[in-house]
Order: sequence, then C-alpha cells, then structure tokens
Amino acid sequence: MFIYFLILYSLNLIEMFIRSSILFLNMNYKDLLEKAKKEAPCTTEGKDRFEIPPVKGHIQGTRTIITNLQQIANQLDRPIDHLLKWLLKEMATFGDLQENGSLMLKRKISSGDFNAKVKQYADEFVFCKQCGKPDTKFVTEENLSYIKCMVCGTKKQIKI
Ligand SMILES: [Zn+2]
Repeated sequence: MFIYFLILYSLNLIEMFIRSSILFLNMNYKDLLEKAKKEAPCTTEGKDRFEIPPVKGHIQGTRTIITNLQQIANQLDRPIDHLLKWLLKEMATFGDLQENGSLMLKRKISSGDFNAKVKQYADEFVFCKQCGKPDTKFVTEENLSYIKCMVCGTKKQIKI
C-alpha cells in the first residue's frame, strides 16, 4: 500500500514537473514573440530610411562633373572604385576622379540618367535579392565574389 502511494506521489511530481516545463516553454515563446513584434517596426523603418543620395553636379562644355560620388558610395557602403568602374562601363564613357574628389565624365549625362544608373547598381550590388534589405556586404570565397545579406544570410554571386 505504501509503495502504491509512493508511486502515485512520484507520478504526480513528474506530471507537475512536465506541466511547469510546458508553461515555461510557452512563456519563453511568448516573450520571443513580443520581442520580435517590438523589433519589427524598427527594421521596417530602417529600410524606409535608406535613400540613395541624388547625384550633384553640372555640365561643363561637353563634360559632366559629379561632385558627390564619394557620398553615394559611402551611403551604398561600396568601394568608390567598384561603383565608378561599373558606372563608366554602363554609361560607355571615360572618366577620372579629380584631386578634389569630384568625377569628370567625358560626355554629357543628365542627372536623371545618372541617378537611374546608380539605382541599377544598388539593385545589383547592394539590395538583397531575397529580403530586399540593403544590409549586405561583398565577400570573397575561393576566388569567387558574392554579396552576402547580413539580415537573412542569402548569398548571390557577382562579378567584380
Ligand atoms: Zn536578405
């Protein structure tokens, strides 16, 4: 009889333990959900806040002077050399960075065309194809280059 009670008592204890574990897990899950909800608006705002600076500059004779290429490269978080090389190829023109940091292009290019090219660059080399966030980095692995998303981890191979 005593053993019977002991077993019953043990079973009760085990049941209590299981119940409290389930409760604990549920609470943890709820906490995580609350945390995720709190964090979600911030990341959405972060994406809305990301703006590519419009190009600044002027036409000088048959040339175009761009004065804020470095600012654009900084905002995109990409090396200015990579951005410049890509832009020159896409716009089929030659250009040099001047000592004062401005870019001289050897033909006339409207600010609208230039802005459109910068946006195309950002779509190709900055924004994650999977989640659309701009928080990506260039990485090189075994001589291949990728952009890697710091948010969702997606990697996309690119040619540098
Ligand atoms: Zn992503």
